[in-house]
Amino acid sequence: MTDRKPLIAGNWKLHNTVAESQALAGAIAAHVGDGSACEVVLGPVATSLAAVKEALGGSAVGLAAQNTHWEDSGAWTGELSPALLLDVGCGYCIIGHSERRQFFGETDAGVRKKLAALLVHKIVPILCVGESLEQREAGKTLEVVLGQVEAATEGLDAVALAPLVVAYEPIWAIGTGRTAKAEDAQEVHRAIREHLAELKGKSWADSVRVLYGGSVKPNNAEELLSQPDVDGALVGGASLTADNFIPIIDAGIGRAES
Ligand code: PEP
Repeated sequence: MTDRKPLIAGNWKLHNTVAESQALAGAIAAHVGDGSACEVVLGPVATSLAAVKEALGGSAVGLAAQNTHWEDSGAWTGELSPALLLDVGCGYCIIGHSERRQFFGETDAGVRKKLAALLVHKIVPILCVGESLEQREAGKTLEVVLGQVEAATEGLDAVALAPLVVAYEPIWAIGTGRTAKAEDAQEVHRAIREHLAELKGKSWADSVRVLYGGSVKPNNAEELLSQPDVDGALVGGASLTADNFIPIIDAGIGRAES
């Protein structure tokens, strides 16, 4: 269907102790083994990053942070930096999650700085974008989503942005059990890719993985992942148990093999 390798990422948010994180990571690593047609990434809380890295051992499962600061070090109480994330073995970092935009005042300008800093350290940014229910009902979905993508990537060219992953996460679908219809998700994903092509060039845009996030579950993953521009999923609630997350990984493998 496409050369883009599907990516299934789990965002554990503020859940799981170190021991719980290790056990869950071990179960996922055992399923994925040392290679898979689908890239799999786990995003534990910061206090569990090192332990999860150890639990993943030699498996192909990657490690993601849920946020970063843009500076490497300095007087930034409470923050983590790309340099420190790299030090603990993170290959990926989620940025611009709607919960951070909504509850922690994260702005497009801050997201752009984080994205640029991650690229310097060769950490794959998973850039979250998405509209609220109010914005969707006002017919502003594409304006909001494409605006967020444009603001986050401003001043960076396709070469610098090479590894970027975008996650389209309609806010009204996160943690609510409401999922975008597969065709509606596809329409937004296609628009994101077309916009990236206009801004930075088509050949790079064609290589960018655009994930869908928002109440992805074992029973809807396959349908969402059957859409041509849905290259994977960013999964919150259903990434918290191996029983739910593994079938979603398998849907990613199914997409790679289709
Ligand atoms: C998320 O927080 O990124 C997310 C998609 O959550 P959920 O799957 O629980 O809706």
